[in-house]
Order: sequence, then structure tokens, then C-alpha cells
Amino acid sequence: HSVKMIYGRYRIESDEKDVNSIISKVAMAHKYAKNHPDYKIFNYGIKLKEEMLEETKLTNKMEDALYNEEFKVFLQPKYSIADNTIVGAEALVRWIEKDGKMIFPDKFIPLFERNGFITRIDKYMLERVCMIIQEWITQGIPPICISVNFSRIHTNNPDFVEEIRDIISKYDIPTEYIEIELTESTILDKENDMISIFEQFKNNNIMVAMDDFGSGYSSLGFLKNFALDVIKLDKSFLSYETDKEKGRVVIRNIVKMIQELGIKIVAEGVETKEQVDFLRGIGCDMAQGYFFARPLPTVQFNELLTANLE
Ligand code: C2E
Ligand code: CA
Ligand code: CA
Repeated sequence: HSVKMIYGRYRIESDEKDVNSIISKVAMAHKYAKNHPDYKIFNYGIKLKEEMLEETKLTNKMEDALYNEEFKVFLQPKYSIADNTIVGAEALVRWIEKDGKMIFPDKFIPLFERNGFITRIDKYMLERVCMIIQEWITQGIPPICISVNFSRIHTNNPDFVEEIRDIISKYDIPTEYIEIELTESTILDKENDMISIFEQFKNNNIMVAMDDFGSGYSSLGFLKNFALDVIKLDKSFLSYETDKEKGRVVIRNIVKMIQELGIKIVAEGVETKEQVDFLRGIGCDMAQGYFFARPLPTVQFNELLTANLE
């Protein structure tokens, strides 16, 4: 284990005498640093005030935004590498304000994880995804599986798998079209609780993917403990070594091992033809990334999907 030090810092003005106000500024900077893993030291100053103001604005708007359906499902296709067809998709949230301004998830997900609102967003996204699948079925479009991201915050709620099941059954769609993505760090930080969570998923026939595999301290031991359906290889995993022979050997054998365990693999963040060729060569099942397509609004995704059928 390692000890991580986090600092808040404030330069006292020459005429400042109010000790409590000085302490509270340092405390604010410290709290900010604690909540933002990118910072180890954070200075109280204009940037802090701006960021706090921005966060307050988003916090004040979020309820209305959810009510007004400003959170949109974008879908990024997953391709079968063998035959270049769309075999699945990942739902990614976008916040589109009334004036059309798009806010990307990195601007609000960390905030929503701190204030708990993420649990509402994730369930809302799942509902929307169920509606999309229902729509495909009604229109006679053969449905594909859509994965939905669920934040680590849900794992504190013992009923979270049941809540997922209830949403899916409310829309009366086969569970085979839904997959829940949990990140590697969510799973590994709570390895003991996860065993029962994975069991609940399995009992309800809901597929689970481990997202961002290889982004952290992946010990491979967990692979035998969980009933995982899919592993998503993090983009860093692919990009840093695909041109080096040793890196290729590592990736090829990890992929082989995962496949022998009966787990499907999706390579994420695939941007180049070289990466696709490499992945095809080692028999990786699926790929997702800008090389194939960006996350798309549902209307455009549907066009791509129906073209893919022809
Ligand atoms: P993620 O789950 O790892 O999603 C993949 C991210 O990589 C997406 O960013 C996607 O747009 C981006 N991406 C796709 N292909 C490529 C590529 O070829 N190259 C590169 N460089 N990037 C690519 P996005 O949509 O901005 O989402 C960022 C993160 O926000 C997601 O990472 C996920 O952790 C989180 N997120 C997004 N939507 C939701 C949601 O509905 N609920 C929760 N809890 N988290 C979400
Ligand atoms: Ca994901
Ligand atoms: Ca990922």
C-alpha cells in the first residue's frame, strides 16, 4: 500500500487578519484537491473559484436538465473484426442544453459521482437504451446488444442489480440485448462485494463487461473469481505497445487466456488500420473506436445500423 498526500494551499495577503477565513480557503483548496484526483496540490485562487462556480451552475441545472430530457444517448458501434459488421454498441451520455451546447461526460460525471446524481443518470440511460431496443423490435430491425455504463457509486446500493432487472423487465425486452459496464477499478476495489453482485447479474441473465481492462493494476487472478461475460481492453493497453514485439506477445497471450475462459473481448479506442490488422491477427472478437465510427446520435446510428444490414 502507498500513502497519498493531498495538499490545499493559499498565499495569505499581507493585510489579512481573519484566521478563520484563511483556514477555510485552505480547506476549500484541500477539499477540491481531494475530489479531483488529477491534483495533488491545489491553490486557492481564481481557478478554484471558477471551477466551483461552474460546478454550482451544473448542480443547479441538473434536475431540470434530466426532466427536460437534455441528457442524450449517443451510441458508438462495436464491430466484429472478422467480418466488419456492427455487432453491438455502447451508450455514452451527452448533455445537450436547450441552446444546443453539448457538454461532454468528463465535465459532469465526476461531479455527479460526488453528489450522487450519477445513479439517476445511469438508470435514465438504461431506460432510454431499453426504449431504443424496443423500438428496433417494433420496426423489425434485428436488435443488437447495447452496453450501459454504471458508475462505481451503485455498488454501495445492495439493490442495484434488482433495480437494473426491474427497468429491463418494465420494457419487456430480452436481457440478452443489455450489457452493464463496470470499470476494472470498481470491480477490483470491491473484490469481495463483487462476487455476490456478479452472482446476482448471472441469476438475472444480465451480461456484465469489465471496462478499462489494463488501465490500472490489473492482477489477472480476479479472472477466475468472477462470472464475467466481456472484457473491454482499455485504449492505453493497445496503443502503447502494438508496435513492439514484446508488447504484442503480452497482448496476444492475455487475449488468448481471456478467450479460453469463455470471455468475449472488445478492444477499445481503436484508431488505426495497423491496430485492426494486429487485432485480427490475434483473433480478437470485437473492436470499438474512431477507426470505425464515433459515438453517434441515435438517429444517425440507426441509419448506420440499417445500412449495415443491407
Ligand atoms: P468509457 O466508458 O471508457 O468510454 C469510452 C470513451 O472513449 C468515450 O468517451 C468515447 O467517446 C471515447 N472513444 C471512443 N473511441 C475512441 C477512439 O478511437 N479514440 C479515443 N481517444 N477515444 C475514443 P466519452 O463519451 O467522452 O465518455 C468518457 C467517459 O465518461 C466514459 O469512458 C465513461 O467512463 C463515462 N461515461 C460516459 N457515459 C456515461 C454514462 O452514461 N454513465 C456513466 N456512469 N459514465 C459514463
Ligand atoms: Ca464504457
Ligand atoms: Ca472504457
